[in-house]
Amino acid sequence: MFKVNEDYLKLPGSYLFSTVGKKFRGYQAQHPDQKVISLGIGDVTRPLTESTITALHAAVDEMGKAETFHGYAPDLGYDFLRNAMAAEYTERGCDIAADEVFVSDGAKSDSANIQEIFGRDNVIAVCDPVYPVYVDSNVMAGRTGTYDANTGTWSDVIYMPCTEENGFAPALPEKTPDIIYLCSPNNPTGAALKKSELQKWVDYANANHAVIIFDAAYEAYITEEDVPHSIFECKGARTCAIELRSFSKNAGYTGLRLGATVIPRDLVSVDGQPLHPLWARRHGTKYNGAPYIVQRAGASVYTPEGKQQIKELVGIYQKNAAYILNGLKEGGYTVYGGVNAPYIWMKTTGGMTSWEFFDYLLENAQVVGTPGSGFGPSGEHYFRLTAFGTYENTVEAVERIRKL
Ligand code: PLP
Repeated sequence: MFKVNEDYLKLPGSYLFSTVGKKFRGYQAQHPDQKVISLGIGDVTRPLTESTITALHAAVDEMGKAETFHGYAPDLGYDFLRNAMAAEYTERGCDIAADEVFVSDGAKSDSANIQEIFGRDNVIAVCDPVYPVYVDSNVMAGRTGTYDANTGTWSDVIYMPCTEENGFAPALPEKTPDIIYLCSPNNPTGAALKKSELQKWVDYANANHAVIIFDAAYEAYITEEDVPHSIFECKGARTCAIELRSFSKNAGYTGLRLGATVIPRDLVSVDGQPLHPLWARRHGTKYNGAPYIVQRAGASVYTPEGKQQIKELVGIYQKNAAYILNGLKEGGYTVYGGVNAPYIWMKTTGGMTSWEFFDYLLENAQVVGTPGSGFGPSGEHYFRLTAFGTYENTVEAVERIRKL
């Protein structure tokens, strides 16, 4: 007489991007003659770089020979990749050792799974709006209380509004959380915390014995000097921060799958339990390692040619971001983001809700975006466009929106 995990039943609707994808495909099926441009789901469109392809081929060849074949990967990652990532931290002036880097198949699973190592009574705080995985995974874990469909909020979650008024930078919450999720550059607003702002959070977390889960998935898009690429650039972060890393948006690995989570050995719970061995134990039990060939590819990203090539790759999307931002601004729209992130955060027009604006754009401009309300209540009346389309489609989408 099995029963399901009732916490899963609390989740309202389907996952945001599944709903967007379903609506997009439904519309396209009904209008096969129309060209619908998707700037909705944040997936890359450019092929992998030469260094990645060369590394993949070489690793595949190794796998075909008895003397260089690789079976199960070490569950915490191959040293060649952990060392390469640690070296990059050192270059940035961050004190992170290779054995504090846990290689994984991406930041989505790590951002969803990391909450497992914390007690159920821990109170979480999230930026509002933000990547929906943080809240949804805590709902599944039974940590969020009850859902209010009118406000789109959970009773036990601390929401930190990121609005036009505060420049989309969250203020320190009135009630002290135990776990603070920060995503900078932020998905969906595209806003990035300056070093002094992030330092304030690190000091706050240390003072309150809270932990910051810092999602750095978009660090490669930072163009401004005073925006940190890693929370470990801040003093004191080793005792309060976990960092999530992804190869998806910097190196185009959305289909290859690679990421990492960094947990410093100095990070200890209020009752003296270090988090590092807990996450290592979890990896050991629930994860069998990212594929050898993918980790080899990932290490190639850190070679001088690899670094140059991903810089060019990111540059292509940054050009799209600037085009959308400036094009829509000139067209009279209110738009944010796009400078340190591949996302443009636009205000809906005519008082439309985010979902009304989604339908409006789809039906009248055949452009798909993502409704801001899907990222949190403060995202209502906003809309997210991504810079990950092709340049041609990006230009065409902006033209279509401007003609409305
Ligand atoms: N974190 C944020 C903030 C994201 O926006 C995304 C994907 O869109 C991810 C993590 C997922 O990254 P990955 O592809 O490495 O799983």
